[in-house]
Amino acid sequence: MERCAIVGSGLAALTAYATLRHGGIAEEEIAVFGTHEDPTEVWRARADAIRQRRMRSESDGHVAAASWPGLAVRDGRPSALWGTLANRYHPSVELFLCHAEGVRERSGWARSFRARRVERIAAVDGGFELDGEGPFRHVLVATGHPGLATPEPYASDPRGVHAYAPHEYGDKVAVVGAGMAAATEWLNALASGAEVVSIRRREPLRRPLNAPRPLFSRRGLAPFHALGAERRAARLRELSAPSYPPGRAWDEPIACAEREGRFRVEHTPNGATQIICATGFRRGYAEDPLLARLVADHDLAVHDRWILVDPDCSVPALTDASRTLALAGIAAQWAYPAADTVAGAKYAARAFLRACRTR
Ligand SMILES: Cc1cc2nc3c(=O)[nH]c(=O)nc-3n(C[C@H](O)[C@H](O)[C@H](O)COP(=O)(O)OP(=O)(O)OC[C@H]3O[C@@H](n4cnc5c(N)ncnc54)[C@H](O)[C@@H]3O)c2cc1C
Repeated sequence: MERCAIVGSGLAALTAYATLRHGGIAEEEIAVFGTHEDPTEVWRARADAIRQRRMRSESDGHVAAASWPGLAVRDGRPSALWGTLANRYHPSVELFLCHAEGVRERSGWARSFRARRVERIAAVDGGFELDGEGPFRHVLVATGHPGLATPEPYASDPRGVHAYAPHEYGDKVAVVGAGMAAATEWLNALASGAEVVSIRRREPLRRPLNAPRPLFSRRGLAPFHALGAERRAARLRELSAPSYPPGRAWDEPIACAEREGRFRVEHTPNGATQIICATGFRRGYAEDPLLARLVADHDLAVHDRWILVDPDCSVPALTDASRTLALAGIAAQWAYPAADTVAGAKYAARAFLRACRTR
């Protein structure tokens, strides 16, 4: 029986791997099954597409096992250290990626990595087989989002492109959506000299992180964990409302463009030469073939689009004193609303390490 496996090869998988290694689990005791040998590749392509320069997360939004030192210390500038005291420091994407690269190299990731897309997880005595390999006693599934969401009628419009796909900017750009990617694209298109039309179903919230700050702490999570299924699902739906950070850096270019008649909110992309869909990802376990099959094969409890997991991100029906099946990334939202962040990846990783050590 092998000890642990991680299925997936993105930021959540790297965070989990670094945490296991830091917790004393050897390279040869961990297998990582993934599609990308470079765990930053998928994320980097999306951040590049929207020209993201700064992280939304703060100093502790990094993939190393220990929280300290954070990226502000690694940044080293006094303004970074002061900024972090007031929750105003957002590391550059370059620093984040450079640090992640260092974690990948030092942790031994490459020696545990097996280039493979896993099609099926089967529960067997005391563990799990992954497409017939294993069995592994503890498995963490970190397969990320199941694909980009491009709603109709934009998906079939030749002017349409998803914000996370590579693109330049036209002269009259419609941006669909109102979250962080949309706001970033408004500024990018304005900076390129374009006229911008914002198409949105609702007004964006303004908040620094992608969930209210208390939901990132154990204490703040307790009331969420105490909610019954329907109220918890309702809370998660509410939290998925589009938002981007407050601040002059966002507001001033838009106010200036509004005065020049280059930015407005409309219902349709009427006359736009390009339609950028900042509409995020397809949602729910059923969109991910591996998770959909896991649920069907093992008759797992679900509610709407979520797999029901315990607060430690483990799937109760497949976890006992001898084995663990846990989720990380967006699929673990039932345990941690901001699961699709680096902080969420750390939360799942630490719980998984505890399981690997104690079971
Ligand atoms: C543009 C952008 C900016 C963001 N900025 C921030 C930020 O500033 N701060 C923050 O905290 N968060 C941020 N996030 C959110 C979050 O950190 C990312 O979504 C992150 O990529 C999630 O990592 P993941 O490992 O869950 O998924 P992914 O990075 O998507 O990785 C999943 C990996 O698993 C592979 N895989 C899928 N299925 C299988 C399978 N069956 N078998 C094997 N491998 C499989 C995939 O191909 C992929 O390589 C941002 C997200 C985006 C898109």
